[in-house]
Amino acid sequence: MRRIPMPRSKFIVVKCPKCGNEQIVFNKAATEVKCLTCGEVVAQPTGGKARILGKVVETLT
Ligand SMILES: [Zn+2]
Repeated sequence: MRRIPMPRSKFIVVKCPKCGNEQIVFNKAATEVKCLTCGEVVAQPTGGKARILGKVVETLT
């Protein structure tokens, strides 16, 4: 069984949909990532790539 090629893990800058705070999130976060300012969940683990709930402002490679 062949592995499906996956894009390299990276960090992304996510803008909180609630308060507008921007913070860096690992795109394969294994745990819920909350906004450091208001506590809103901005990323959820899916078992692979995290689901980003805020707006992706920038991708850091
Ligand atoms: Zn926030």
